Amino acid sequence: MVAVTDTRANSNYDIVIVGGGMVGISLALLLRAQRPWKILVVEAQELAVSDSPVSGAYSSSFDARSTALSWSSRNIYQSIAVWPQLKRHLAAIAQIHVSDRGHAGLTRIDAADANVDALGYVVENQWLGSVLLNQLAETDIQLLGSAGVETIVPLAAGMCLGVQQSDQDLQTIDAKLVVIADGAGSSTSKKLGIQSQSSTYGQTGIIANISLEKPHGGVAYERFTDQGPMALLPLTDFKGRPRSALVWTQPSEMAESLMAADEQSFLEQLQTRFGYRLGRFKQLGERVAYPLALTTATEQMRRHLVVMGNAAHSLHPVAGQGFNLSLRDAATLANSLAQAGEAIGDLAVLQQYQQQQAADQRNTVLFSDSLPKLFGLSSSVIALGRNSGLLAMDLIPSLRNSFARFGMGMATREPGHG
Ligand SMILES: Cc1cc2nc3c(=O)[nH]c(=O)nc-3n(C[C@H](O)[C@H](O)[C@H](O)COP(=O)(O)OP(=O)(O)OC[C@H]3O[C@@H](n4cnc5c(N)ncnc54)[C@H](O)[C@@H]3O)c2cc1C
Repeated sequence: MVAVTDTRANSNYDIVIVGGGMVGISLALLLRAQRPWKILVVEAQELAVSDSPVSGAYSSSFDARSTALSWSSRNIYQSIAVWPQLKRHLAAIAQIHVSDRGHAGLTRIDAADANVDALGYVVENQWLGSVLLNQLAETDIQLLGSAGVETIVPLAAGMCLGVQQSDQDLQTIDAKLVVIADGAGSSTSKKLGIQSQSSTYGQTGIIANISLEKPHGGVAYERFTDQGPMALLPLTDFKGRPRSALVWTQPSEMAESLMAADEQSFLEQLQTRFGYRLGRFKQLGERVAYPLALTTATEQMRRHLVVMGNAAHSLHPVAGQGFNLSLRDAATLANSLAQAGEAIGDLAVLQQYQQQQAADQRNTVLFSDSLPKLFGLSSSVIALGRNSGLLAMDLIPSLRNSFARFGMGMATREPGHG
């Protein structure tokens, strides 16, 4: 277990991160790798570290989902030595198989064609959480679990936070820089008048692990159907059984009945929608439903303040981009701060960070927003267009490679950024 930090005797920090989810913890490790800043992570849920998957109460980020990590995320985690710990929990994506149910279009993107070992890597969030939190426990980064930010007030040289931990007295904590990473619809941002804009897709993503009759062979299936996209991502075997992680996007009213269906009926419906490329679906893990929306913060930066992760941009999961983008944001911020000397809260430093990430954020948000809209449309003319798109991608290697590079988080980066 992580020792609960008592910050009361020690209330001045260089950097306070509000939200210890996938993004907050990753950022803390990236910062620690740069400079010996005094860092505190404030997390609403109880913090637990063990060598088994993180589960139970501390679950909103490290829950039953899986994450497809891009090539850029691999490079970033390699730079802070997280990768070797993560490796045994990863399934490499050797091929992405994109198809459109009921239409001819189909394309395959191969790691070999893109000249990489893998097009991405799939990890269960609970294992990602376990590795990140264990790594954090090896550092002097302080963690305050079961704690929330009650007040946040700008000062001349930083921010002052009023932090409430469980039923203890309110603590006052000063920081030169506060990074808000407390998830979509961030309550801490709202305290500063930073709003978020949200547009719903009217869709719900149902996730579950599925055990398979046939080995997946490292193939990630992305299948577009008239009801929404569905992905089956390769996972590591469990008890010798091959498994894939399902993300099944459905109009929200249909998702409700799928969530209520018994295991057999759910698997039968899935089989009908997906087909038999992986043989019979054998068993169904825990199902969780996520209502899907594009949510973006109206501001991502002020003096002594950065908004990051889902608190800054929360995307449709179809393209598997949300966390990968946030990790690139986090790595860029850590680099910018490392070059800033003492001036880590200065507007010019934070503006430079934002300028560096602006194109990446814009392109990734656009890509993740357009895919479900394009493939969600069912008119036959559009269907023809999207199928010729898939066919063209299959016929023109450079087009396919640029799709693959985008998916890997490379197309929007300057060379050398990974
Ligand atoms: C179905 C699905 C599949 C996805 N698949 C992929 C994928 O394959 N690849 C990919 O790149 N992305 C994927 N994503 C996106 C990815 O899950 C998110 O980008 C990621 O979870 C964002 O992490 P976060 O830390 O910003 O936010 P969160 O995960 O929401 O974490 C926020 C943390 O802040 C804490 N918190 C909240 N309020 C407070 C407060 N007031 N004070 C302190 N702490 C607080 C919470 O307890 C939580 O721990 C997927 C998303 C979904 C829904």
